[in-house]
Amino acid sequence: MPISNAQIAKVFYRIAELLDIKGENPFKVRAYEKAALVVESLSEPIEKIYQEGRLMQVPGIGKSIADKIGELIETGKLSYLEELESSIPAGVVELLKIPEVGPKTAWLVYKELGIKSIEELEEAAKEGKLRVLPGLGPKTEENILKGIERLRRFGERVPLGIALPFARQVVEWLKERAPIDKIEPAGSLRRRRETIGDIDILVTSTNHLEVMDAFVSLPIVREVLAQGETKTSVITDMGIQMDVRVVEPDCFGAALQYFTGSKEHNIHLRKIAQDMGLKISEYGVFRGDERIAGRTEEEVYNTLGLPYIPPELREDRGEIEAAKEGKLPHLVEFKDIRGDLHIHTKHSDGHFTIREMALAGKRMGYEYIGIADHTKGLGVAAGMNEEEILREKEEIERLNEEIEGITILAGVEVNIKMDGTLDIDEEVLDQLDFVIASVHSAFKQPKDVMTERICRAMEREVVDILGHPTGRLIGKRDAYEVDGEKLIDEALRTKTILEINAFPDRMDLPDILCRAAKVKRAKFAINTDAHSIDQLNLIEYGVATARRGWLEKEDIVNCLPVEELLKLFKKK
Ligand SMILES: [Zn+2]
Ligand SMILES: [Zn+2]
Repeated sequence: MPISNAQIAKVFYRIAELLDIKGENPFKVRAYEKAALVVESLSEPIEKIYQEGRLMQVPGIGKSIADKIGELIETGKLSYLEELESSIPAGVVELLKIPEVGPKTAWLVYKELGIKSIEELEEAAKEGKLRVLPGLGPKTEENILKGIERLRRFGERVPLGIALPFARQVVEWLKERAPIDKIEPAGSLRRRRETIGDIDILVTSTNHLEVMDAFVSLPIVREVLAQGETKTSVITDMGIQMDVRVVEPDCFGAALQYFTGSKEHNIHLRKIAQDMGLKISEYGVFRGDERIAGRTEEEVYNTLGLPYIPPELREDRGEIEAAKEGKLPHLVEFKDIRGDLHIHTKHSDGHFTIREMALAGKRMGYEYIGIADHTKGLGVAAGMNEEEILREKEEIERLNEEIEGITILAGVEVNIKMDGTLDIDEEVLDQLDFVIASVHSAFKQPKDVMTERICRAMEREVVDILGHPTGRLIGKRDAYEVDGEKLIDEALRTKTILEINAFPDRMDLPDILCRAAKVKRAKFAINTDAHSIDQLNLIEYGVATARRGWLEKEDIVNCLPVEELLKLFKKK
């Protein structure tokens, strides 16, 4: 029974959640969360690792976790999880979907008020019934109501970081199980939007029925909505809908273009076609009854007098006008990235040594990597003090003499304190190759205070890069209240580089702000914030965000050779 990495990770997150609700030992909870993270960020299918007997070699997977993975792969179930689930009412777990409700609160309102659903919690919050409970107050009620509203606004959308590996797994499975020629996920996934509503997969095949049979029998299918010869729709166990369409090879390009969208982009294209006396649909571009294009997307665009437009730009935000004038940007690609400048190691909360991360960076094809561990203010992440930072720098110098083929840059991710000062002595920061400054605390400051705080930090000469500039966690936490416009202007004035943090739940700076900042000629760094070797692969989400923000390699500092990058860091 095939099972994906994402599915197994989901099981471990679920266990962590349930243990947390029951108030179990935090270390145990943490161990399951870690296991989930490890599985989620593996670059190969865990089933393969299991079958080859290599599970225990994966860092972060011990005996007990390995056994559970084995049981899941062999039986598709986990008895431990079933036991846990039966000991807690389902509605209580539901409450955790609300961004503002943690396990303690969920358990408390259940035990004290018998609340077992989001609706019941909403009512109690509105009626002011929660404030009598220990540790809760009117402010909590307000936050919970806001959280419920945000949950409803988000609906069943799934972050790209979950949907993309999920879709890729389905593509792999279909290829193994049916005769498939071309296969491509379309829709907002192909445009790399940060959240995905449903997943569309387009296929060409000599045997439609076999494709559809293979699809509906995949283990991720929770419910088959409709099964037909050209289109089949299911609800997946991730809660989102997935459609597979089998199209004729002569219309594959037209179908891919049509189902990639966006709707607005397609409406604009249709108008252009009409003005030329043509018709465009998912079957092709037609003059009268004659199909004059449809096999490839290039063909479709060219027939409309346009060059090919990359999917990430297709939002009708000026890309069609730019295409007409031959002014489309040459979007940055992964191969342009020469190094990753935001990497954590065992010196703070990363899982690997500097040497291991450097060698992994070399395998990625990078010329350099930048180590940026946390500093002391961040208690939970084992941050470094001044002395430890200097010792890490010495270690990096030694490793640079020893390791060939990649340069390790010595940096830190320093905390921006509540008042905008940094939590490390500037004389120490001055000795490093570069400094990332990030907000990791007091997220709920009022807008003007937060804006002032960040601007004050960028003002410091030692600060080269502003880390994850808006602080949002997609689907979990809104960006902090900050004046984006002012932030960009101040970044320019102070020559501070804006990070595009590639972590899929961050993708921060968001695409829209990337574009706004590019117009003003800001500089960017696409970094992963990797805490493990596998997370270096997350760079693709940063590249996708940059591409959606119209960025070219000239805008990105880590597309520069190391000497030029170091010069740029010094310039400030
Ligand atoms: Zn950070
Ligand atoms: Zn970080």
